[in-house]
Amino acid sequence: MKTPFTLSSNERGPSIRVRFAPSPTGLMHTGGVRTALMNYLFAAQKQGTFILRIEDTDQQRNFDPNATKIIEDLTWLGLHYEEGPIKGGPHKPYFQSLRNDIYQERLAELYNKGRAYRCFCTEEELEKKRARQIALKVAPRYDRTCVALSETQINTKLEQKIPFIWRVKLDTQGSITIQDMAHGTITFDLKNFADFPLTRTDGTATFMFANFVDDLLMEITHVIRGEDHLTNTAGQAMLYRAFESPLPMFWHLPILCSIEGKKLSKRDFGSSLRDLKDEGYLPEAICNYLAIIGASFKDEIMSLQELTHIFNFESMHTTGHIKYDVEKLQWINRKWIAQYSNEKLTLSCLPYLLEAFPSVKNLDQAAVTGLIKSIKTDLTTLKDVVKALQFYFETPQVTHKDIAAMIDAQNAITLSTIVAHAVEKIHNATEFTNLVKESSKAQNIPLKETFTFIRMALTGTPKGPGIAELVEMLGIDESTRRLKAVLE
Ligand code: GLU
Repeated sequence: MKTPFTLSSNERGPSIRVRFAPSPTGLMHTGGVRTALMNYLFAAQKQGTFILRIEDTDQQRNFDPNATKIIEDLTWLGLHYEEGPIKGGPHKPYFQSLRNDIYQERLAELYNKGRAYRCFCTEEELEKKRARQIALKVAPRYDRTCVALSETQINTKLEQKIPFIWRVKLDTQGSITIQDMAHGTITFDLKNFADFPLTRTDGTATFMFANFVDDLLMEITHVIRGEDHLTNTAGQAMLYRAFESPLPMFWHLPILCSIEGKKLSKRDFGSSLRDLKDEGYLPEAICNYLAIIGASFKDEIMSLQELTHIFNFESMHTTGHIKYDVEKLQWINRKWIAQYSNEKLTLSCLPYLLEAFPSVKNLDQAAVTGLIKSIKTDLTTLKDVVKALQFYFETPQVTHKDIAAMIDAQNAITLSTIVAHAVEKIHNATEFTNLVKESSKAQNIPLKETFTFIRMALTGTPKGPGIAELVEMLGIDESTRRLKAVLE
């Protein structure tokens, strides 16, 4: 049964502590960005503390030592944390790889409580047991071979230097209940859980143990994370019980899935932040989209600050899957591009332009801003700037034949005369435009065809900025040159 989560008035202020705890095993997943965002917004609204903790106990899969990339991504998104790597804080260090002594202390405490034991079973033995259980159609789980080893047996194995791990000794009877902001009250039947490993054979703490110890010691009040961790929660809740500590509130966020309803895979565009960043989605748009997805808001375009105020965490009932819709994200990105000042947009577009057209560096900033302003409404992503301004940097390869194929054949001939006449007479963009417009009208040529003719000659595409604007952008000399080229 669902019990709506309500924050009482005293659950506000610095005692509210949340954390984003990524494992640096690869690119930041879009679901991870959403988790970071929800933690950030929650802390910001409740005037609590947002902590960044790097879960790097698996050194073999650590692809981001020092978490440089993670920190860069969060900074880019505007999700600033108060405690964490570089910044420090009362619970430093914030890298799990530097906290092993702390885990060992807690392990000793657990051992003294009779809640941990050494397990000498080898991987092969465990694998065999698992296979047998599966064959017998029972849920595979550790059979507690090592739970009752005598002192002498243990010492003999230690003398023989047989590798071991530590396991938690769980209650196998009764149940444990947690509160979750999305799922309400969840009760786990303990007989379904196995004594999970607390350490690896090299002595380092496992995710399950380190994650719990840190949440406990860092005084995390709300554990906001992906729904894929829901099954870990029972085991971790039992560790809280073993340490006689109150449980945090949980919020397991729905998993992002594709429009077809499948779990977002690496091959789906936009599954990693890198995809979105490279393509030219703005950080504001990404946060905006990931915040409103799966909920409904009257005004959908919101900054982080607005989201902080408007978000209603007390009614976040979303469970299951939420659909990740790139088209909606594109719409939001367009809105944010429109909100950017021309100067800011120019700075954001510049890396894309520099890569595609190195000669852009010969233009002064005001000139580039002028170009960007003219094509601003054509941009869905920043990367679109390359296509939109290609005509400016590269002379289009277009012939009279190409143009004539797009409009009425007779009109194409008449327009050639009109344009040829105009290019001889004109001195500026407005005069030119007015002259061709009037002449076309006099010849009953639809304006649409006139514009297609000129736009094709100037840019190689039938769509884009207005004619006068194009001539302005290219300059009268370059425009004349391009127009004459197609008339020849
Ligand atoms: N390190 C875990 C992950 O990246 C985080 C788990 C949690 O937030 O508790 O999935």
